[in-house]
Amino acid sequence: MKEVKVLLEQDEMPKRWYNILPDLPEPLPPVINPGTKEPIGPGDLAPLFPMELIKQEVSTDRYIDIPEEVREAYFQIGRPSPLYRAHRLEKALNTPAKIYYKREDVSFAGSHKPNTAIAQAYYNMKEGVEKIATETGAGQWGTALSLGCALFDIACEVFMVRISYDQKPYRRIIMELYGSKVHPSPSTVTNTGRAFLEKDPNHTGSLGLAISEAVEVAATNDDTKYSLGSVLNHVLMHQTVVGQETQLQFDKIDTKPDVMIGCVGGGSNFGGFIYPTLGKKLRGEDNSTRFKAVEPKGCPTLTKGEYRYDHGDAARLIPLIKMYTLGCDFVPSPIHAGGLRYHGESPSLSLLHKTGNLEAVAYDQLETFEAGSMFAKTEGLVPAPETNHAIKAAIDEAIDAKKKNEERIIAFNFSGHGLLDLKGYADFIAGRLK
Ligand SMILES: *Cc1c(COP(=O)(O)O)cnc(C)c1O
Repeated sequence: MKEVKVLLEQDEMPKRWYNILPDLPEPLPPVINPGTKEPIGPGDLAPLFPMELIKQEVSTDRYIDIPEEVREAYFQIGRPSPLYRAHRLEKALNTPAKIYYKREDVSFAGSHKPNTAIAQAYYNMKEGVEKIATETGAGQWGTALSLGCALFDIACEVFMVRISYDQKPYRRIIMELYGSKVHPSPSTVTNTGRAFLEKDPNHTGSLGLAISEAVEVAATNDDTKYSLGSVLNHVLMHQTVVGQETQLQFDKIDTKPDVMIGCVGGGSNFGGFIYPTLGKKLRGEDNSTRFKAVEPKGCPTLTKGEYRYDHGDAARLIPLIKMYTLGCDFVPSPIHAGGLRYHGESPSLSLLHKTGNLEAVAYDQLETFEAGSMFAKTEGLVPAPETNHAIKAAIDEAIDAKKKNEERIIAFNFSGHGLLDLKGYADFIAGRLK
């Protein structure tokens, strides 16, 4: 039989997360308190996050042990995940390249997001937190955190970007099934939400605005903490289980990727996928892989944004982070890849881009759906609209390899399935997609 997929055993699941901070080419610029203009300390974050996550956020330890209960939950929901070879896609492209994809869609929530949701719910539970408030774009993060909270038995309140709340009712239903309370954002339950609704009753919402609402709830309730599904250091670190497994899987088939590709919203699936390998490059151990971030032209943070201090949210409640940004007031076009509609970018990924360690490319929505449709026809899997961006870049790499007659090894992170994103595909099939 051809090599179709590379599987791992339960005990091959990573036992620790990889923290890229000590390996960065320069120290990360500090997060700044907008009032005092001073770097913020752990005490400033204590109302929002449990102490263990604050420690992880600023830790310079290269590895942090994964608690046994978190590993058990990882195993329960689908880790270790398989690495697939896209033989049929390669054949359709008639390319000498070899294309591999890491299947993060196999988790119960259908994406990579439970890798951090489970860890975050666990540490909140450990520290006696009763409720977690959060935002969600397309609904994947809300679903993942609702799953994590259900597994560790804490309450969850989700502010869901209104356009997705209206376009994607099914994820809302799953969140409610897991026991969460879901509000469309802007909502009427926070001061921030009400202020934005007053200005524009038909506001379609944005991730930055939904973050403001969730932060407000956490900051004004003692028993409630806040949780972010991307961008922050600890989130990308939790996602490195993806990249560590991928390394082991490539070792098993005695292969190394020439290029690793992922779509970027806040940067968590891409960071988690590439950081273990990029870390080797930064430490001077191995320089054989390129890294390519893919984003939508409707929200081109890395390709068109500026590297500067900005707020992570629209109401400017969150401290200033140095990152690539389109400005915290930026309202992205209402593309179907809701998870990629964020004005900012993870600070570590931003620094790595600034220092020339990453390539970045932006695509139009239509060409990403064409790529996703080709993938579904050949490989049989329905990708999330976000994932379509990575697929488009992988296809372009394979076409380029064909022109140059190279047996290029291409690996991309299949961040999630699109079985709950069929509205976008319906528009695509009907020729209505812009
Ligand atoms: C949330 C999401 C993304 C984008 O978020 P990142 O933090 O950049 O990974 C990409 N793909 C899927 C399937 C998602 O759910």
